[in-house]
Amino acid sequence: MSTTIFNKSFTQQESIPESGIERAVEVLRSGRIHRYNVLEGEISQTSLLETEFAAYMEQPYCLACASGGYALHIALKAAGIKSAEAVLTNGFTLAPVPGAIDNAGGKPVLVEIDDNYCVDLNHLEAMMKSSKARFFLMSHMRGHIADMDAVVALCQQYDVALIEDCAHTMGAYWNGKKSGSFGLVACFSTQTYKHLNSGEGGLLTTDNPELMAKAVMHSGSYMLFERHDAAPDVDTFKDIKLDTPNYSGRMDNLRAAILRSQLPLLDDNCERWNKRYRELERRLKQSKHIQLSERRVQEKYVASSLQFRVEPLKEGQMSDFVVNCANRGVELKWFGSAEPQGFTSRYDSWRYIESKQHLPQTLKVLATTFDLRIPLTFDVEDMMIIGEIIDDVVQSIITC
Ligand SMILES: *Cc1c(COP(=O)(O)O)cnc(C)c1O
Repeated sequence: MSTTIFNKSFTQQESIPESGIERAVEVLRSGRIHRYNVLEGEISQTSLLETEFAAYMEQPYCLACASGGYALHIALKAAGIKSAEAVLTNGFTLAPVPGAIDNAGGKPVLVEIDDNYCVDLNHLEAMMKSSKARFFLMSHMRGHIADMDAVVALCQQYDVALIEDCAHTMGAYWNGKKSGSFGLVACFSTQTYKHLNSGEGGLLTTDNPELMAKAVMHSGSYMLFERHDAAPDVDTFKDIKLDTPNYSGRMDNLRAAILRSQLPLLDDNCERWNKRYRELERRLKQSKHIQLSERRVQEKYVASSLQFRVEPLKEGQMSDFVVNCANRGVELKWFGSAEPQGFTSRYDSWRYIESKQHLPQTLKVLATTFDLRIPLTFDVEDMMIIGEIIDDVVQSIITC
């Protein structure tokens, strides 16, 4: 066994492009950091970002806001969620998703995942029938995209509005159509570990004018909605503006300036993630103990992380595996751990939701699933080294 130690950080992102740093400094010098603080005739960085991201998504409307979780919250509100209403969502996602449902006054109703980390379509249909939910907040968790043609057909059949959580699929496609253009509204995160980085931030896109007008009002527009270029015309706001509470959660010009410089690089970066992912996948496939998820031809994914299972490992060997990998510099998350560490993606750690829900299939998949980030600060060659180490550690545990 070799003793190579990998010494790069799994949480080190690339720096902000120089053009973004320059623009951010201009914003700071101007003192006009608030999105509505503009000179006569000036268009704010935030409004420009909205126009540019709407164009990227090929959608008419975009709203920039404080975080991805906040975008999900106001998407539900603008879509008309009522108090204590059921909202279907994946049993495997990140904590801000059930949190947004709770924040909007709803009740998360969980749907099982399949072996490939996508929602299980049979269970989804069963839950649509039994819950009578009007909303499905679908999380494309870790960038795994379910059969969207089937999901859209189910939503139509059962009259369910689809809200897409695209925190891990910004830049991805299903069957030639952009992830985030299948439902009523889509939400994105620009938190540091997502595909665009402004520290914190969220983007909401839709082609529905009433929903967009409500979302703008919710985000806290102080009746300055005319300063949104990627929003419907002022007439749409007439019947909405006084009936829609302000839940203050705007984006500011500093973060928008940083994001605008990254957007033109997004598609290239998606390719860079995938190159790294494919190299690691190729190496891990050489191990007979490691199972990788299957990805369908319609799925044009953006693999900014990788999930794998090691089914031969026994229950007591899971944490050894994580510790031994960490000792060799490879930082893994294990979704089977009883106590959530550095993540809260397993539904039984969201104890505030209805406790009767039990998802044996989801728990079974997560019990043997490991997860690692693929930051763009790693080279393609680094992925070989990481794969070697993982394979080595698996071997050493299984043969001892
Ligand atoms: C990051 C993330 C979000 C939103 O997170 P924020 O930190 O609020 O921007 C939503 N869903 C998933 C799956 C995420 O990973």
